[in-house]
Amino acid sequence: MIRTTFPPVSRASIETLQFNLGRLCNQACLHCHVDASPKAKGALENASASLVQQALDLLARTPEIGTLDITGGAPELNPAFRYLVTEARKLGRRVFVRHNLTVQQEPCQADLPQFFAEHGVTAFCSLPCYSSNNVDNQRGAGVFEASIAGLRRLNAQGFGQAHDLILVFNPAGPNLPPPQAVLEDAYREELLAEHGIVFTSLAVITNMPIHRFARDLERRGHLEDYRELLAASFNADTLEGLMCRRALSLRWDGRLFDCDFNLVQDLALRADDGRELTIADLLQAEQPGELVREAAIAVDSHCFACTAGCGSSCGGALA
Ligand code: SF4
Ligand code: SF4
Repeated sequence: MIRTTFPPVSRASIETLQFNLGRLCNQACLHCHVDASPKAKGALENASASLVQQALDLLARTPEIGTLDITGGAPELNPAFRYLVTEARKLGRRVFVRHNLTVQQEPCQADLPQFFAEHGVTAFCSLPCYSSNNVDNQRGAGVFEASIAGLRRLNAQGFGQAHDLILVFNPAGPNLPPPQAVLEDAYREELLAEHGIVFTSLAVITNMPIHRFARDLERRGHLEDYRELLAASFNADTLEGLMCRRALSLRWDGRLFDCDFNLVQDLALRADDGRELTIADLLQAEQPGELVREAAIAVDSHCFACTAGCGSSCGGALA
């Protein structure tokens, strides 16, 4: 049984299916809550083609889910990724891709900006700073330069103007992020002046003290202080916008969760009789949306990262 002082959160209607295609990534960043890395190969940690088809079947059956949000790892490395995007767009869904920019340098991935443009994808791209040292320290040597090259290729395909290009910031250490609007202005000025890059908006995300980031904080002796900071910065105004209220998270093994953080914490979505729900259950249900709405959101102490200060979700600040 979960014990936490975090308040209960009520579910609203499900508007987004977030699909985590797996832990395989070309990077292994310090703050990664998914523990993604190039080592994560194989069916146990990456979605199969048949699960991708089930996700598309679920979208086809649930018109209230208007958005497919594809994440990973680097989801583009999954062989079924382009099929998923193409078919979801044919179903009329808005498609977000959590894109780390450097994956464009992997074999057969150089045309990703063109593929995204052709399919009207919204690109969410991690760039935790506009200075190379900070990015390379957090994400690996050479990542800043490769990210700038990736952004230039996206700009050349109309991202940042005709197509949405959302940059994602997270702090380097155990601190709350600065105000989103102020930081967005600084990013806009620096990226344009130094690199000629334009973007649509900046999403500011608070680091989750779980998995790789938690282990790093523990090694440095900062984990408990950071957890206390998050709990002490609780802001009730952020509760309304929490992503778990309007999203459903599908993991690479077919299990369902309230969000990508509960997904890595193994806090499964459960029906009101206590059994775990999978995508197969939703596909068998007469009204899949109803089954999800009846399931309580599993909150735990890590949830304080979503409600600290201005709040945080996969889409940025909440208040
Ligand atoms: S690029 Fe994203 S998924 Fe890959 S290791 Fe870094 S934070 Fe994790
Ligand atoms: S961690 Fe997940 S369940 Fe907890 S508040 Fe954030 S979005 Fe909701």
